[in-house]
Amino acid sequence: MMFSIMPIENVPNEAPKKRSEIDALEQRFRLLFDSSPDAIFVEDTDGYVLDVNTEACRLHGMTRDQLVGKHVLDLVPPEARDEVSREFPRLAKGELDGVEGFSFAADRGPIPVELRTRPIEYAGKAAILLHVRDISKRRQAEEALHRSEEQLRHAQRLEAVGTLASGLAHDFNNLMTVISCYSDLLLHGLEENTRLHQDTQEIRKASNSAADLTRQLLMFSRKQIVSPVLLDLNSLLAEMESLLLRLIGEDIEVVHNHDPDLRSVRVDRGQIEQVVMNLAINARDAMPRGGRLTIITSNVVLTEAECRLDPDAQPGNFVCLSTEDTGVGMDEETLDRVLEPYFTTKELGKGTGLGLSVVYGIVKKHEGSISISSTPGRGSLFRVYLPSVESAPRQPSKEQLNLEKPRGKGERILLVEDHSEIREISERILTENNYHVESAANAADAVELFEKEADAFDLLFSDMILADTTGLDLAERLRAINPELYVLLTSGYMDDKLQLRLIEEKGYPFLSKPYANMELLRTIRRELDKRAD
Ligand code: ADP
Ligand code: MG
Repeated sequence: MMFSIMPIENVPNEAPKKRSEIDALEQRFRLLFDSSPDAIFVEDTDGYVLDVNTEACRLHGMTRDQLVGKHVLDLVPPEARDEVSREFPRLAKGELDGVEGFSFAADRGPIPVELRTRPIEYAGKAAILLHVRDISKRRQAEEALHRSEEQLRHAQRLEAVGTLASGLAHDFNNLMTVISCYSDLLLHGLEENTRLHQDTQEIRKASNSAADLTRQLLMFSRKQIVSPVLLDLNSLLAEMESLLLRLIGEDIEVVHNHDPDLRSVRVDRGQIEQVVMNLAINARDAMPRGGRLTIITSNVVLTEAECRLDPDAQPGNFVCLSTEDTGVGMDEETLDRVLEPYFTTKELGKGTGLGLSVVYGIVKKHEGSISISSTPGRGSLFRVYLPSVESAPRQPSKEQLNLEKPRGKGERILLVEDHSEIREISERILTENNYHVESAANAADAVELFEKEADAFDLLFSDMILADTTGLDLAERLRAINPELYVLLTSGYMDDKLQLRLIEEKGYPFLSKPYANMELLRTIRRELDKRAD
């Protein structure tokens, strides 16, 4: 009650009350100031810091006391100082609103920022209010967007090249069919161990290599025919040897170390070839001055404990295919990322960064796993594990197969092929091997031929892609007339997965172009012999 009788004009008693109000007000403003998501600086007109908020301290990794009194040039990266001191007068007047630049943090280095300034009066003097926004997250997002746009463009480019490649490969396969079939015929007609026989053999070999090349092209555009088969990796590697040697060049020694008792694997042949190719190409690139590539096969049992480290690995029986090189090797950082699509350390135009990601994709599809070890300067070891299968198929060698005589027994074949050279050579091969052949260039002609004496034909051998329909549709039409008719379809490429699936569903055999004479005869014989079973 004592205060109530105090006179109002009692100054000493009123002053403390006003101070606390002012303190509260200042606290409220300080709170707003410090809660700003932007860094705020108050600087004098010479650029010395008078006050900062909490975000400014965070941005520079300094306390308020450390920042106050610093000059603006101490807070930008050294290389930006000239420009900042040149532009400072305009900045101070607020003329450079929203410019982007860099702040410099002792602990983090340059940080991309956006600046806004206003001339103000502070404690009775002209000063500058500076808002600084950390835009590193935005920059990161922009860069990520830019990168993914680049990758998309890259993928589109690859897609275009793939389309081009598969079109080319298709036409090329037709030509190769003609070349290989005629050289087979020549070989057959020439006496062995003569000069002409040897020369013709060279043509045959070259056409095999050309067929390998188109297979690679089609693999690249993922349009080759896929089908898992029981396979002996050792024979696959043996068959790939000449291709590998050509690919790798002379400076690199290729050593094979195969387990003779290797178990079999159930794999898509083309895809596993691609795995080997990609690993070999990488090894080659890692040894620009030559070295040694060792290709190892072995049976491996993976235990629970061994699989614990790798989430992709499963315990069980595997065949391990390893490639070991004596090349440049990889550091930890590279090792970490090699399987990523588009990750490459090679210069533009040299690497696509797709090799190992394709390997990884294929291996995963086969329920296998991959492990990589490497030391910079000492080389790399890639291990690919593929689930193994109990029985080892003893695949008959090519020579053995060639001894068989898969000739006709006078059966009648309806041959449908729009490519005239292929039609002629196929007709000749079949006729010379005791088949009666009627041929047509399109489905309409084929139907006409067939309707005349439907029961007389044993087998339809047709190209898949005809001018007026597909080989599959033609087969269906003819089999509606005569359900006993056997069918063999062929094509240089198949990019229509649906058609492939339909062919599979119907159980029709498929012969891919280019085919060798023996392959054609063997396939047809096998189909016709099913009748006897
Ligand atoms: P690319 O070969 O097009 O670069 P890959 O996916 O095949 O793409 O390989 C990615 C990266 O992995 C390569 O750029 C390289 O840095 C590294 N790499 C792959 N294989 C080897 C190897 N045998 N030795 C050293 N580095 C390798
Ligand atoms: Mg590669």
